[in-house]
Amino acid sequence: MTITYDTAELLDIAAIREIENADLVPLYAKRDVALVRGEGTRLWDSDGKEYLDCMSAYGTAILGHAHPAVTEAITRQAATLTTCHQSFYNDQRARYLQLLMANTPAGITRAFFCNSGTEAVEASLKFARAVTGRQHLVSTRKAYHGRTMGSLAVTGDNKYKEPYAPMYGAVTHVAFGEPDALAAVTDETAALILEPVQGEGGINPAPAGYLEEARRVCDQHGALLIFDEVQTAFRTGSLFAGPASGTTPDLIAVSKAIANGLPMGMTLMTEAVATAVPPGTHGNTFGGNPMVCAAAHATLSTILDGDLFAHSARVGAHFLDALRSLDHPQIRDVRGRGLMIGVELKTRVTPVLRKLQEGGLLALPAGNLIIRFLPPLVITEAEADRAVAALAQALG
Ligand code: PMP
Repeated sequence: MTITYDTAELLDIAAIREIENADLVPLYAKRDVALVRGEGTRLWDSDGKEYLDCMSAYGTAILGHAHPAVTEAITRQAATLTTCHQSFYNDQRARYLQLLMANTPAGITRAFFCNSGTEAVEASLKFARAVTGRQHLVSTRKAYHGRTMGSLAVTGDNKYKEPYAPMYGAVTHVAFGEPDALAAVTDETAALILEPVQGEGGINPAPAGYLEEARRVCDQHGALLIFDEVQTAFRTGSLFAGPASGTTPDLIAVSKAIANGLPMGMTLMTEAVATAVPPGTHGNTFGGNPMVCAAAHATLSTILDGDLFAHSARVGAHFLDALRSLDHPQIRDVRGRGLMIGVELKTRVTPVLRKLQEGGLLALPAGNLIIRFLPPLVITEAEADRAVAALAQALG
């Protein structure tokens, strides 16, 4: 199928800016560019300027933009059946489940469908409460779990929470990566929730042994272990970061990358958790819809068939090495796993991100001091080198 693209039909940046600024709740710090088209690792703005995309729309376009396999799946499904409530069975939903569940870690056997990261986390918290009959939650400082009231309560950063206080109360936040702090998990705790690599909090990989200790402490107290893999899933050189490093939780929240940018979230869990959730007590309208499931199937099968986890681990390691060898006086630290990479600066990142954008490279912040690279898995070593050279130039 050929789709023609006519720039003459486009609104120009001035018109787009005026409409969005007048009509939307002003919640986002806007970049003064309208992105209108993408292909692979490239994006184009409404003036035709090209960018190398090292942000993948906050980690979602895992195969890059307009990937032919995903486009074909969406197009075919759009002409067949776009919506089907879960009170009915559906072929695309079953086909995707079959592929996904054949690849989940041993012991993770059941799934709940929703539409976003925060909903996937929210479901994991609700299920943990229902299954344990307990209320107390343990989370980590600098954690980011989403903006609905439950996910917000376990999020670390107070600036997101203060205007919406009071939060859902029984949450203890402990220092991330410190095994001794896990003593906050007690016989009253429903669940401990962790990101195996903290994303928004600054690209902080869990230190060796930390996730195992989390598992041990939860088992000791009969609490459930939840991994929020909304940002890490598919991005750290494997399906899921926590199980890949040897620890399987009771629940895994995923979203972002799994349908290559279409809105999809899932909560994956053990048989024991799934069969203890009271039937009929949770759900949503759009979850598991056939078009998104077709996109998710195309995404995962393309990754597996193309051995893209191995490719992304290799390019990610190259990217990290190249950043480390910059050895620039403004860089305090370089860290990450796979294609989830953070560069901590000694100064604020906003001017550097602006310079990168002007030079045709899109990256994103993680807090005030960290530049985050979340490129599509199909990025090449040459493109990673280009990104590193652009950073060196932007830092001056
Ligand atoms: N958890 C993590 C780890 C995330 O990175 C995010 C999004 N940045 C979320 C949850 C929330 O996802 P969403 O914005 O889709 O609700």
